[in-house]
Amino acid sequence: MPDDHLRYLPDGLPDVLLDADERTLLQELGGPSLIRFPGRDEPPRAVSVLLHGDEPTGFQALLHVLRSRPELPYDLYVLIGNVRAALEPPGYAVRYLDDQEDLNRIWSPTSRTTPLREAAADALVRLQQAQISSLVDLHNTSGDNPFYAIITRNRPGTINLAALFTTRIVHWELPNGALVEALQDDCTAVAVECGLPGQRATWDLAVDGLRRYLFGPPVDTQETGADHGLLSGLHRVTVPPEVTLRFGGELHDDLDLVIPIDADRHNFAEVAPGHVLGQVHPDAPLPVEVLAPDGRPATEQLLRVDDDRLVLTRAATPVMMTRTVEAVRKDCLVYLAVDPTRPPEASTSSMSMPANRSSSVRSNGTSVRRST
Ligand SMILES: [Zn+2]
Repeated sequence: MPDDHLRYLPDGLPDVLLDADERTLLQELGGPSLIRFPGRDEPPRAVSVLLHGDEPTGFQALLHVLRSRPELPYDLYVLIGNVRAALEPPGYAVRYLDDQEDLNRIWSPTSRTTPLREAAADALVRLQQAQISSLVDLHNTSGDNPFYAIITRNRPGTINLAALFTTRIVHWELPNGALVEALQDDCTAVAVECGLPGQRATWDLAVDGLRRYLFGPPVDTQETGADHGLLSGLHRVTVPPEVTLRFGGELHDDLDLVIPIDADRHNFAEVAPGHVLGQVHPDAPLPVEVLAPDGRPATEQLLRVDDDRLVLTRAATPVMMTRTVEAVRKDCLVYLAVDPTRPPEASTSSMSMPANRSSSVRSNGTSVRRST
């Protein structure tokens, strides 16, 4: 019977399961699973997939690589996260189930209040006891994002590990209860956002990156190797539950906020002060809440209502703008990367720009700042 307690398989997967179709394998596992593929005596490495049930690329790519039966010089730990959500018909359709929480927001060794939290705590303890040297957590994005990796510690090791997949890197400072955050002081841990599921480029990024990670030397933790772009200063923008919203269409009396249907095209491209985030009723209260990287409220510093528009008060780079109300409700609307060294611009409406102003600077990633 499927449930959310952790399964631990210390001897890899039997051939019949490794070769089974994905659904059969997931059904056989029945819940969150930590699988150790025994290798030789180098420091263990880890990969986690499916922390979100609707993000299958990492799982599929990892199966593809493991089916060649590689002989690894280290124990490989594979965490297959929200199996129940992944199995929910028609398959890979929901991030998490109604009776669950987001599996990438509950990583703590001490919080064991639900079966899923218990599974996370058990897996965390096992990964720590195994003294894994590195972990790559593979995700898909729900909006139009270029590939990028997330680090929670800005160190040579995390940069180098991320760069095996992509050189576009986001430094995430907000406490979030994520897996990579829970392991950030134990090993070199990064999350990789492989783009939308079901696309060829997404698949290639995941498979190629996994091969570099699994078959390459241990990651260099002393010196940063790859040139890369690093975005930091992420502010989290959420929509309170009482605010009604939709993507696209006209604002009417039953709605508080309309987000442009293609708002995610600005992901990773800097937008100017006055950039329109959404449409609101004239002079309505701010329909979103913003948290700064240090966890302090920053709504008024970053956004204001200008007549019937919700606009930015300063230049920022949207990251992870979603395109579904479900993702907004279950996580957040967008993150805004703000350069703390740049002063806010004057917040007069004369500086506002029309919503379509930045269509010419579509997300080609040129706005990321170089890191040293
Ligand atoms: Zn995810």
